[in-house]
Amino acid sequence: MSKLDILSYNLEQLEKLILDMGQSKFRAKQIFRWLHIDRATSFDDMTNLSKDLRKELDEKFEIKTLEIYDVLVSKIDGTRKYLFKLEDGDIIESVMMPYDHGNTVCVSSQAGCRMGCKFCASTINGLDRNLTVSEILGQSYAVERDIGDRVNHIVLMGSGEPLDNFDNVMQYIRVISDDNGNNLSKRNITLSTCGLVPQIKKLADIGFPVTLALSLHATDDETRKQIMPIAHKYSIKEVLDACDYLFSKTGRRVTFEYSLIAGVNDSFEHAKKLGQLFGMKNCHVNLIPINPVEERDFTQSNKQHIEEFRAILDQCHVKATVRREMGRDINGACGQLRNDTKSKLGGEA
Ligand code: SAH
Repeated sequence: MSKLDILSYNLEQLEKLILDMGQSKFRAKQIFRWLHIDRATSFDDMTNLSKDLRKELDEKFEIKTLEIYDVLVSKIDGTRKYLFKLEDGDIIESVMMPYDHGNTVCVSSQAGCRMGCKFCASTINGLDRNLTVSEILGQSYAVERDIGDRVNHIVLMGSGEPLDNFDNVMQYIRVISDDNGNNLSKRNITLSTCGLVPQIKKLADIGFPVTLALSLHATDDETRKQIMPIAHKYSIKEVLDACDYLFSKTGRRVTFEYSLIAGVNDSFEHAKKLGQLFGMKNCHVNLIPINPVEERDFTQSNKQHIEEFRAILDQCHVKATVRREMGRDINGACGQLRNDTKSKLGGEA
């Protein structure tokens, strides 16, 4: 029988499992602390538990850690790109950005992605599989081990669509933010989605005060359909209504991401339309100069143009910032490094 993946359980579930083993409930809290505060990698480390219990735990459970396959470090700003090798040989990537306000890790939620956005490298070979809770959690834990410092912010903006792996991502948020363990404030977690409307509503009903980042990238349905297949399923209106619903439930301001693609969605008309959409809303717009992907035929708008685009939003009283490019010297677009490494590994096999 395969062992249970102990890092994928929240405290309540662990308490139940420990009670079922005939132990008292408070043992679960001790074990949870060992796992998520002390970061024990073996049950033998858990010195306040009896030897017999440690042995029993070791027979029943496994503490999975992510293996770092490679790290690229930016000489410009210290950004670190990590590649992790999973048990089944698949590769995922995470990025650590050392901002003034603390270390931020951009985490993957799936190996690959099935959403098919035309400008995105993560989706080129489709979805391999959902990541497990411990694989999502293991990314920032491995980064913390590597840098010897705490990660203060998590952005679920790596490969994958977090709301397409809904249950594991919700469980991940529960585990990483538990104040009996790692205790990362949910307010320091940003979840980025291409706009899966029913799941946004489900997230709103759960009520976690995370920040939702909505990948809008267009101001009309026709343009959005050209670059994001999900737009065939949900209209911009439906997506924005779901965001309003989330705001009404959690009080958390939604961030809208708008990647500027020259000649596709970056005209001043688009800027005005964006201004009309958001002028009255309590939200924030993140303008992202598109990161050109080799396999995709899109180019970046020039700096001056992006600044003028932003100025129009300003006139419409929309708070907008242009995302600063981090780790320019190690930057492939999101998912590109994973693809390159996977094809190299495939070539070796
Ligand atoms: N599936 C989630 C998370 C994906 S990546 C989502 O769609 O939001 C996080 C952000 O980067 C998204 O806004 C995504 O649209 C954007 N993105 C992906 N590839 C990009 C590229 N090549 N250049 C600029 N932004 C990109």
